[in-house]
Amino acid sequence: MTDCIFCKIIKGEINASLIYEDEEVIAFNDIRPIAPVHFLIVPKQHVVSLAECSPSEQRLLGKILLLAPQLASELGLKGFRTMINTGREGGQEVFHLHVHVFGGGEALPKT
Ligand code: 5GP
Ligand code: ZN
Repeated sequence: MTDCIFCKIIKGEINASLIYEDEEVIAFNDIRPIAPVHFLIVPKQHVVSLAECSPSEQRLLGKILLLAPQLASELGLKGFRTMINTGREGGQEVFHLHVHVFGGGEALPKT
């Protein structure tokens, strides 16, 4: 996907504040954080959204979810919230699957 902002970050064409990278996954700080710590975990493979995932993405999705507590802990978070916006009606703005992880500071509001 040539016009996908996250694919450009993955290819190194756009700078991001990276916090994790391996052959399948990248994680970087959100450019507009909504909490003191706010990062995104993103598969390197261009998958549009959670709604486009199939059983073939099961292992990758599990890996991404398990990275959330690992990276949150490494960044000093005692608790965190995960969020996956799916589709325009679900608030998704970047159509490359990503998991938001955020926290820090006061306890997050319920909604
Ligand atoms: P969505 O609403 O699609 O779930 O979230 C997309 C997120 O990507 C937003 O929180 C937005 O701040 C973040 N974002 C958009 N463009 C960039 C960028 O170029 N760099 C980084 N680091 N984050 C971005
Ligand atoms: Zn992409």
